[in-house]
Amino acid sequence: MKTIKDKDIYCLIGNPVSKSLSPTIHNSYFELIGENSIYFTFEIKEEKLELILEAFKILNVKGFNVTIPHKITIINYLDEVSEDVKVLGAVNTVRNLNGKLIGFNTDGKGFLKSLEMEKIDVKDKKILVLGAGGAANAISVSLAMEGVKSIIIANRTISKAETLSDRISSYFPKIEVKYDSLKLENVKKKEVDMIVNCTSVGMYPNQTESPIDIEGFQKNLIVYDIIYKPKKTRLLQLAEFKGYKTINGISMLINQGLCSQEIWLGKKDLFFLENFEKIRRILKNYIE
Ligand code: NAP
Repeated sequence: MKTIKDKDIYCLIGNPVSKSLSPTIHNSYFELIGENSIYFTFEIKEEKLELILEAFKILNVKGFNVTIPHKITIINYLDEVSEDVKVLGAVNTVRNLNGKLIGFNTDGKGFLKSLEMEKIDVKDKKILVLGAGGAANAISVSLAMEGVKSIIIANRTISKAETLSDRISSYFPKIEVKYDSLKLENVKKKEVDMIVNCTSVGMYPNQTESPIDIEGFQKNLIVYDIIYKPKKTRLLQLAEFKGYKTINGISMLINQGLCSQEIWLGKKDLFFLENFEKIRRILKNYIE
């Protein structure tokens, strides 16, 4: 029988972490692929972050995920970061490579992978991103890297929408980037190809709220809500009623986890639909 002392250790650090689905995703995946590893969660306060990273090096923790509130500050303590982290300024995955901590962000990659699985090509498309927080940041940058035609950032706090749109414009000068409030007063709705909700509006337990008025868009609109609980948010219900194509956040959730695994294990075959579907079935008990 395997004992814990033989296992490679992975974990999630953040505060809070108790409701995270990451341990379920990663421990299920380790089991599915026969990897002798285990994934824990650790609630870490800001002032202990540097100390815990030193401890991880000493204990040879192989890799870890990072969540709120450490996604940005952790960059100061890492030895290296990937190119997309340099652009978007946030880390959610760290690999310990022989004592060297290297930071990555898999939110955008997980999002793009979920689009690929839906056979959606965003090149030259006009995208309306709702929100300007961590997820909106990662997704907007990944959309820009995919060569979309334009991005409109709409957010409750306009100054944050402006900051994010300035950041994208400075790295991707060829892409048309605008910002607005969630009232969308300056958005030409008929021109939008896809909406991506990256706000937390509609998330459990506030399930009756929608971040925007869904009226006035063109009939081929795609509405992607990255929220995964509930699996059909108010926004998706309204969009479905209008006949738009809808996508929820479960596929992105699984894919960003698989992208972390790819970074940690250095394996490139993690997206096999069979394993993806197995994890989706396991998560059903936690999400629905
Ligand atoms: P975050 O950094 O805290 O950003 C939250 C965003 O929601 C901000 O734009 C904020 O606007 C907006 N917001 C919050 N409450 C609002 C309200 N009452 N009215 C209007 N806007 C409001 O969070 P995040 O990490 O980006 O996560 C955002 C959502 O994405 C969460 O629901 C999270 O569960 C989900 N998510 C899903 C995945 C996945 O894999 N499927 C991955 C990451 C995140 P202000 O700037 O005005 O505060």
